[in-house]
Amino acid sequence: MRIVVLPGDGIGPEITDATLQVLERVRQALSLDLSFDVRPIGLAALRTEGTTLPPPVLEACRTADAIVLGPVSTAEYPPRDDGGVNVSAELRIQLDLFANIRPSRTRAGLPHWGRTPMDLVIVRENTEGFYADRNMHRGSGELMPTPDLALSVRKISAPASARIARSAFELAAARRRHVTAVHKSNVLGVTEGLFLREVRAVAREHPEIAYDEQLVDSMAALLVRDAARYDVVVTTNMFGDILSDEAAELAGGLGLAASINVGERHGMAQAQHGSAPDIQGQNKANPVSLILSAAMLLDWLGRRHRDSALAAAARVIESSVDAALQQPATRTFDLGGPLGTDAFTAELCREIDARPIR
Ligand code: NAD
Repeated sequence: MRIVVLPGDGIGPEITDATLQVLERVRQALSLDLSFDVRPIGLAALRTEGTTLPPPVLEACRTADAIVLGPVSTAEYPPRDDGGVNVSAELRIQLDLFANIRPSRTRAGLPHWGRTPMDLVIVRENTEGFYADRNMHRGSGELMPTPDLALSVRKISAPASARIARSAFELAAARRRHVTAVHKSNVLGVTEGLFLREVRAVAREHPEIAYDEQLVDSMAALLVRDAARYDVVVTTNMFGDILSDEAAELAGGLGLAASINVGERHGMAQAQHGSAPDIQGQNKANPVSLILSAAMLLDWLGRRHRDSALAAAARVIESSVDAALQQPATRTFDLGGPLGTDAFTAELCREIDARPIR
């Protein structure tokens, strides 16, 4: 199986290198049929190819079995016409990666900032909503009719709402069987009403799964107060983006927050955080978010190809990360520990080697 690896910008190359070391470790240990095809994107590709996403790279992603994408410095990109393609958004659109799966869980021994331990997954719709680059057939979802008036168009469709709801209920069936739909139908009755109509229809098909609804503003507070009550949370694009960063921070830190983007045919691992240019090149980045995202991707590949070794590799990475994070002495700087990216990665590889996985 061929995995295309896109290092990205900022801390992207550092955490991608760490992730590749871990993937290579489990590949060898479990004799996995994996190969890694590393391709420059982002500002590096802009300098040499004139675009942040060269067409051959997009094609390589289209034909790959899976993708690992490092964070990208979209805020530094020039306009699209000058080569600044938002790689993350473009891959989500082009490959129809409609479900962004973002788990957050507290870990034994690691401080968390919410009032309760938690283990939840936010299932975020990825292809429409308030994101100006993905809600129009042509043109942008942001308009400026006059110099002093700006408008945003938000797209919510029944098919996209139904398929993200299905993803959430399928996930919940394999977890604690509880789905919460987060919305703002009290002020956006038409769009949020349509979203809820579709989620409720899927909920009726799954009477074995508990279903409830929560307004997004109160959800932000309830995550701090009592995140333990949530299992799978399904919501629209922007609410999911914001709430998943909040949940990740409450569970221990953004540097730990994994995610995958999946559709019917493609899967892409991607850290929840951005390219952290403030710590770029300083060996300070926590690579766990991308490493755990890659583990989620292996699990997805394992289920897709009925390959239990891939799922086992995912579990090995997860448990090795848990073990490494348990002791303050083997944590990265952002978690108050003494280790830089390189030293933490070496520690994690030692944990993997110590596991009886053959
Ligand atoms: P950010 O997530 O990059 O950083 C927020 C804060 O968290 C910073 O203090 C950073 O140092 C810290 N941080 C983030 N990841 C860390 C890690 N792995 N280890 C240790 N500390 C970490 O958010 P930002 O500063 O708002 O955005 C920076 C750039 O990233 C912008 O260009 C933005 O557009 C882009 N961005 C990209 C993605 C993506 O690629 N999916 C997502 C969000 C932001």
